[in-house]
Amino acid sequence: MNLGIKDRVALVAASSQGIGKATAEAFAAEGCRVAMCARNPQTLQSAADRIREQYNVEVLAEPFDVTDAAAVTRFVAAVAAQFGSVDICVTNAGGPPAKGFLAASLEDWQRALAANFLSTVYFAREVIPHMQKKKWGRIITITSITTKQPVADLVLSNAVRAAVVGLVKSLANEFGKDGILVNNVGPGFTATDRLKELARAGAASSGKSEQEFFDRWAADTPLKRLGEPRELAETIVWLASQRASYITGQTVLVDGGMYKGL
Ligand code: NAD
Repeated sequence: MNLGIKDRVALVAASSQGIGKATAEAFAAEGCRVAMCARNPQTLQSAADRIREQYNVEVLAEPFDVTDAAAVTRFVAAVAAQFGSVDICVTNAGGPPAKGFLAASLEDWQRALAANFLSTVYFAREVIPHMQKKKWGRIITITSITTKQPVADLVLSNAVRAAVVGLVKSLANEFGKDGILVNNVGPGFTATDRLKELARAGAASSGKSEQEFFDRWAADTPLKRLGEPRELAETIVWLASQRASYITGQTVLVDGGMYKGL
């Protein structure tokens, strides 16, 4: 299938590892020019170098924290200056810590809001005017299965991600007339460092082994296995493509069927 996005400019936030990195790679594989960011300069640079070499596409990588609104503004301006525009923007950040409600501090709430909600606001404000000029754009947020089904001890994610869905639907309504499609992708349990972090937290608070957590997550899923970052990435790239031209305002779960609702 020709996805029709060769030479498009795809910005992928928080993309030095895990789902973000797999997504940057998948856009490069389609011949997009890619803009990447993350906090750690070394990990980011090595991910960017590998993608540039493997796919022979232009890659711009800048280290910064997506909770820094001014840094997001500077980055989007730099991407537009180098590549001429921003056609596709995938928002992403590390997940909040696994905690129950009373264990979560006010600082935890503020950090979760900044990383997992406000960062999407920052990117959307900067990229939409570029997309409006071209009457074409895609914004895709990476959130979680928690947008449909709360997960125990992830109260920060359960609460804050819902705001992203409200934003996605609002942006889809407001900017559809400009050819901008806005969708949300919710990973289920996916084999990345984030999942190791959740297994470690679960093991520490329950006395069970980390392996028991991985096994239980896989068993909870109709497909009886964890997801691979590539499976999220390919869904995101398809949503950004010409082939998904009548889909906006939606949440797509890539969760191996784990969501129990209809
Ligand atoms: P990960 O921890 O493997 O990777 C996170 C990436 O984000 C890294 O590149 C890291 O450097 C970067 N990052 C983190 N905070 C940042 C910040 N403030 N500014 C800039 N970069 C930052 O995580 P992942 O598994 O790829 O998850 C991506 C998102 O999907 C997270 O929000 C996570 O909570 C969510 N999610 C993951 C799973 C899963 O099972 N892996 C399930 C549901 C939701």
